[in-house]
Amino acid sequence: MQPQAYKFDFDFIVIGSGFGGSVSAHRLTEKGYRVAVIEMGRRWRPETLPRTSWSLHRWLWRPKLGLRGFFSMRLFRHATIFHGCAVGGGSITYASTLLTPPDGVWNSGSWAGLANWKSEMPQHYETASRMLGVSENTILGPADHLLQRAAEAAGCGHTFYRTRIGIFQPVRGEPGGKTFPDPFFGGDGLPRTTCIACGGCIMGCRYGAKNTLDLNYLYLAEKHGARVLPESKVTDVRPLNAVGDGSDGYEVLAVKSTTWFPRPRRRFTCRGVVFAASSLGTMELLFHLRENGSLPAISASLGQHVRTNSESLIGARIPVCRKDLSQGVAIGSGIYIDQHTHIEAVRYPKGSDTMGLLATILTDGRPGARRIILWLKNVVGSLFRRPFTTLRLFRPWGWAQETVILLCMQALDGEIEMRWQRPWFWPLRKFLVSRGGKVPTYIPQANEFAKKFAAVAGGTAMSMLPEILFDVPGTAHCIGGCVIADSSSQGVVDCQHRVFGYKNMYICDGSVVAANLGVNPSLTITALAERAMSFIPPVAGASWG
Ligand SMILES: Cc1cc2nc3c(=O)[nH]c(=O)nc-3n(C[C@H](O)[C@H](O)[C@H](O)COP(=O)(O)OP(=O)(O)OC[C@H]3O[C@@H](n4cnc5c(N)ncnc54)[C@H](O)[C@@H]3O)c2cc1C
Ligand code: SF4
Repeated sequence: MQPQAYKFDFDFIVIGSGFGGSVSAHRLTEKGYRVAVIEMGRRWRPETLPRTSWSLHRWLWRPKLGLRGFFSMRLFRHATIFHGCAVGGGSITYASTLLTPPDGVWNSGSWAGLANWKSEMPQHYETASRMLGVSENTILGPADHLLQRAAEAAGCGHTFYRTRIGIFQPVRGEPGGKTFPDPFFGGDGLPRTTCIACGGCIMGCRYGAKNTLDLNYLYLAEKHGARVLPESKVTDVRPLNAVGDGSDGYEVLAVKSTTWFPRPRRRFTCRGVVFAASSLGTMELLFHLRENGSLPAISASLGQHVRTNSESLIGARIPVCRKDLSQGVAIGSGIYIDQHTHIEAVRYPKGSDTMGLLATILTDGRPGARRIILWLKNVVGSLFRRPFTTLRLFRPWGWAQETVILLCMQALDGEIEMRWQRPWFWPLRKFLVSRGGKVPTYIPQANEFAKKFAAVAGGTAMSMLPEILFDVPGTAHCIGGCVIADSSSQGVVDCQHRVFGYKNMYICDGSVVAANLGVNPSLTITALAERAMSFIPPVAGASWG
């Protein structure tokens, strides 16, 4: 038989290999399409992941500075945004907490009323949970027990729960570290090793126990024919043959992302494109493509309704604790201190102490100069009263073993906007810049809880230095910017994730989320991508027009 001559290099090109991208790649391959996944980050194996966060070049992603890791921090006026950058997207660095948001999220934001979300979504959450291997955490570490005790002291002990996580856990009572044949996909997947509770999920799992996307969705997509191109950054997407709505297909240009010197761009053609470069990545790319004239019809709503889950990072350092607080899984448990405020106990693995450089003594008060003065007063006062204890608090070594980070998230709505502008300090090119009202860095009830936690544990309540000095909160949960809406005047995609103004173009990542979830977003991004892909027919029934 003659090999089929294809007019296009691929049927679909997926840009980014995180949650939305991996689901898209797997489901499209399963439907018979020829799929390529273009990913800016590197491919990681358990043995190539860094041992601790001091191995900066293998942890942080800033390739122009020679840092070729998988964790990126982007500074904006309104938030410092943390995100992953790797084959498998944010799953390589994420804490694997996979929670379903409350039903109320479907009634707010621009997606409200566009579909029967409450009856449609449960089946997609179920599929996403099965594929990501979600189960209740059976491994409570010392940090989780402390959270429970502090919650009881604060009168909210009844809200304590074990997180639901995407980790291959050992059977209760058995030690971790044992390898079993594929436990998730009826033999189609990889052999897997059980979790040893080292607390290292955020630094990448070096034991193969975390259910990262390269071990599930993306693995299956590649096994069934998808081609993954790592270390390749997409720089342009243009309709072919100058047919403005893309109904003739697209050309996609990519450059090598990990070299210092520019290399020739690679060109691929395809019939359809799925943007899945994360909320920040997709916004950045679409702003650039609208501006350079490649995709001029992208909605003017691009960059609006960006949400940060209203987060604040606080915690407690407990140098006197005889237990190693880094043990357990990265986020093992959570509590609700009130109807809107959710707190999770987070940890880094032993030796990964670099984040300790950003930790300081907790300081209350409204943001601004008065809070900085109060903070200085607290630090100086503490140095006078307890010089050795205070110096020990600021010592980075041992930070991970002595610290519980409290990740506070609020389900109350609050949003910012991203624009594509020349910043005053660098007029040579445009960047994403944030605009809008301030995102609160001070959540009084969360600070009160941190103090209670510290008192129960015999330690000192801590918060993040940038939150106090610059009044900028940190978040690992940036969502929105290309939200689902009924028209291009309200959002960038319709309720089937089709980009307004273009044919066969989709967005499947955190950027489409149109409400503040109040819980970690990856399960919702996965479930939404499952739903979006369910509308695309198998290749035999595809009508590209
Ligand atoms: C430290 C940390 C811990 C977290 N823990 C949790 C948790 O426990 N639970 C949870 O639900 N969420 C967690 N998150 C958040 C979670 O990682 C993200 O919400 C999720 O990964 C977003 O999925 P996505 O599909 O939108 O994109 P991502 O998973 O971010 O993937 C996007 C991919 O696109 C690539 N890309 C970007 N631009 C381009 C381009 N131009 N060309 C090619 N490729 C490109 C990026 O390199 C990236 O790999 C955590 C995040 C961090 C940083
Ligand atoms: S706790 Fe350790 S072994 Fe378990 S999933 Fe996380 S990194 Fe892997």
